[in-house]
Amino acid sequence: MRDSRLVLFIILAAFMALCSQAQAWDQHFVFTQVVAAELSDRLPILIEPVRATSLETFLKRNKTAVKALFRDFYSWKYKTYKYQHWLLSPENYAYLYSEGAGSMDKKRFLELLGVQKTGLSQIIVSEEFSRQYNIKSVNADTTLPFSAWLALFSDEPDWGADIGLFGKGDPRYNSEIPYGAIDKLSSQAPFHMYFPTERFITYKACESLKESMALLRFNIFIRLTNLAWRVKDHYWTARFLGNTTHYLQDVSNSYHSSALPYANLFTYVKYFAVKDKDKYLSDNTQILANRHFAYEAVGLEFMLLTKDNLDAYIRTSSVVDRGYELGISEAQQNYCAFSSEIFNRVSKAAYKNARAVDKLIVKNFPAHLIKDPKFDPQTREDFQLNLWFNKELLNNFLQNPKTKQGDLIKAFFTDAVRTFECSALLMGHILR
Ligand SMILES: [Zn+2]
Repeated sequence: MRDSRLVLFIILAAFMALCSQAQAWDQHFVFTQVVAAELSDRLPILIEPVRATSLETFLKRNKTAVKALFRDFYSWKYKTYKYQHWLLSPENYAYLYSEGAGSMDKKRFLELLGVQKTGLSQIIVSEEFSRQYNIKSVNADTTLPFSAWLALFSDEPDWGADIGLFGKGDPRYNSEIPYGAIDKLSSQAPFHMYFPTERFITYKACESLKESMALLRFNIFIRLTNLAWRVKDHYWTARFLGNTTHYLQDVSNSYHSSALPYANLFTYVKYFAVKDKDKYLSDNTQILANRHFAYEAVGLEFMLLTKDNLDAYIRTSSVVDRGYELGISEAQQNYCAFSSEIFNRVSKAAYKNARAVDKLIVKNFPAHLIKDPKFDPQTREDFQLNLWFNKELLNNFLQNPKTKQGDLIKAFFTDAVRTFECSALLMGHILR
């Protein structure tokens, strides 16, 4: 009864939603900036002005340390990750382990980092970011406060570095993509979605759900952050930490940590019973994509609408305190074990919230948006979020949490609080 398509279709859905409209967790900076602002009294680096520098310069100054870092990373990876992805080419293996020829230039660095050739090269300033920070663009020698860089780069892993790595003859990724479609945006899913907590039957249907590389990405970027911080390169600390933060925030989103939030036995039974399986799959793919889309749209709208009074809804200072204290108190631990534990804990908690979130999306949104496979929210004109989620509704929620959409807002709080908390933990842990 092994049919990986059943689960695959659902995974694809998650990334279909990201193209046309901005959403929270697509705009990670909305979370990161709140935490950075809250911690600036304890972590003074956050308000320091920092000038952009090139990756080449960072590598030239730290070539020996970066080489040692990758050697340690790959040794750790071989011990903890048994799947045949993100492999070392023979040349890079020789370079790292037997003093083979070559140097740590940008090309080799990006190969070892497991990303696209264009990774860590361009900087994309979104409309929302540009508006909130009053920045139009950035260039090779822009100076910004550390916290602004950090917020900006917490969106960087969505700028294309993880897209299209499979199925293109790349020796690092020469086996099948574990989930996601090789020619679409969802090809980054194996790096941004993480499913360590699925039920037995789900793994049975799709073993490769276990092959996520999100934790690996998180681990390598923590290592790089630590190195940059140690050598007092503040620009690259902010950039690497922003990337690290992204992967952790991703798995804090219920739809990124649960492959099948609405599946029950009936879903499986029906799948095996229906004649036109392809249609069943594609219909469900669209439905799940729509719900994921709706949820993230609510999240971003909430963050933008409450920009000036977020505290009325979520007591961010105590949430951030809690994360920060955890981050600094665990200072003595082996950081690999510590960071893996945090990553898994965050993902598990998000998984636990997924079913409730999904049910509330269904309950609170008009049926045609979340149950009709023919509706695609990416044709944006139909999807006018402000009709059922707006300032007035949020004001009503403050008066009476039982108001319309109140239960959905509370379910979002659970994911948002976790996202703030784990981001604060990370900042505290690294920048203390
Ligand atoms: Zn992501």
